[in-house]
Amino acid sequence: MPNNQQPILNVPHVCILGGGFAGLYTALYLSNSAWARSGRCKITLVEPNDRFLFSPLSYELITGELQAWEIAPSYQKLLANTGVVLCEQKMQKVALKNREVTLEDGTALNYDYLVFAVGAQNRWATISGLRAYALTFRTLADAERLEAKLTILGASERQWLKVIILGGGASGVELACKIADRLGKRAQVHLIERGDEILKPFPSGLRKAAYRAMRARRIQVECGTEVIAVETESITVMRNDQIVELPADLVLWAAGTESREPIARLNAAKNERGQLLTRPTLQLVDHPEVFALGDVAEVRNQHKIVPATAQAAYQQASRAAKNLEALMRGKPLRPFRYLHLGDMLTLGKGAAIVSSFSINLEGQLAAIVRRLVYIQRLPTLRHRWQVLEHLLNSTMAKILRWFNYGTQKQNNRSS
Ligand SMILES: Cc1cc2nc3c(=O)[nH]c(=O)nc-3n(C[C@H](O)[C@H](O)[C@H](O)COP(=O)(O)OP(=O)(O)OC[C@H]3O[C@@H](n4cnc5c(N)ncnc54)[C@H](O)[C@@H]3O)c2cc1C
Repeated sequence: MPNNQQPILNVPHVCILGGGFAGLYTALYLSNSAWARSGRCKITLVEPNDRFLFSPLSYELITGELQAWEIAPSYQKLLANTGVVLCEQKMQKVALKNREVTLEDGTALNYDYLVFAVGAQNRWATISGLRAYALTFRTLADAERLEAKLTILGASERQWLKVIILGGGASGVELACKIADRLGKRAQVHLIERGDEILKPFPSGLRKAAYRAMRARRIQVECGTEVIAVETESITVMRNDQIVELPADLVLWAAGTESREPIARLNAAKNERGQLLTRPTLQLVDHPEVFALGDVAEVRNQHKIVPATAQAAYQQASRAAKNLEALMRGKPLRPFRYLHLGDMLTLGKGAAIVSSFSINLEGQLAAIVRRLVYIQRLPTLRHRWQVLEHLLNSTMAKILRWFNYGTQKQNNRSS
C-alpha cells in the first residue's frame, strides 16, 4: 500500500524477483519516487531469505571486524514504510506470455511489469567429492558454516591447520587473507588457481598488492594446477603432469558462478553463460515489460559487457527504477550507463587495497576508506546511520582505552 495514502485501485503491479543488490535497490529507488509514493503502482519483492546480504563486506564476519546485523539487515526493517510488499518465497517459474510468476508454494502472482534480479549461484565443477566436502562462501548460511568450522579448527590442538582455497579470483584471495589472519601463525593457507594468473581481470598494481599481502601471511599461491578430487581430509591435484595428494583440514570452493535453475528453464534469449540478454534500457530483448539486471543479466554499455559485480548491479538498479517509472508513465526510457568507480579488495584484518581513478591506497588507510565507501552504499539511510554510529562508538572506545593505557603507564612510571 502506498505511504500515507489511500490505495488507488487498478494500479500497475511491479513484481521484483530477488532482493539482492539489483532487486532490493530497485525496489527502494522505485518506492522512494514521488510517483510510487502517490500510490501509482504496487511493488512486490519476491525473496526467499529474511535478510539481505551486503556480500562485499561478508569477509569481515570471518575476522569479527563486523557483525551480521551490520551487513545483513532484515528485509522487514529495510522495507518498513516503503509500501513495498515483501513475499518471502522463491520464484519457481515465470510464464512470460501470461505475465505470471509461480512461487514455490504454488501461488501464482500476476504482474504488469517484472524485474529479474535473482543473481547467480555457485558453479560446482564436476570434481569428485567437491560438493560433499568443500565449503563455499556466497550466502549468510555459508558464512555461518565457515564460522563453525573455523571455531572447531581454532580450538583444536593441532600444530598446523591446513586450509586450501580453490579459485584465485577476488573471492579466493580475500578469503585466503582473512582466514590466515583469523587462524594466526598455525594456519598454512594454500590458494590454488587453475589458470596461469590470479586476479586476472584486475589491474597489475592491485595484483602486486595482493601478492604482497599473501606473502606477509605466508599464503602459498599455486597457478596452473587442476584439482581432480576432494576427500574428507585431503585433495588430489594434477601438478606438472603428476598426481599429488595434499592434506587439508578445510577446503573452500571459490571458483565461478552459473545461472539459477528457473532462469536456465526460462524461454527467453540468453548468452552462452545463461544470462538473460537485455536492451541498453535493461529490458529483455523480446519483452519490453520485463527488466533484467545484476548477475542474472548480460548488460552491455557501449558494446562492452558490464561486469557481474555489486557495483554494477547497484548502478543498474537506479536506472531500472527510473525506466520502470518512465514506462508506466508513457515517457521515453534511457539507456544504462556504467561508470567503473574502481576496485577494492580486503587483504586481511584491517588491510585492503583501493584503486580508483588513478588513486591507489593500501593497508589500514585503504581498509578505512573501503569500509566508509561501503557503509555509504548500505541500503536505507537509517541502517547506514546505525552502522556508522556503531563504528564511531567502537572507535571512540578504542581511542579512550588507548588514552587510559598511556596515562596509566605514565602514572606508573612517575610513582
Ligand atoms: C563473498 C562475495 C563477495 C563479493 N564482493 C564483491 C565486491 O567486493 N565488489 C563487488 O562489486 N561485487 C562483489 N561481489 C559480487 C556481488 O555480490 C554480486 O555481483 C551482486 O550481489 C549481484 O547482485 P544481484 O542482485 O544480481 O544478485 P544477489 O545480490 O546475489 O541477489 C540475488 C537475490 O535473489 C534471491 N533469489 C535467488 N533465487 C531466487 C528465486 N528463485 N526467487 C526469488 N529470489 C531469489 C537471492 O536470495 C538473493 O537475495 C561479491 C560476491 C560474493 C559472493
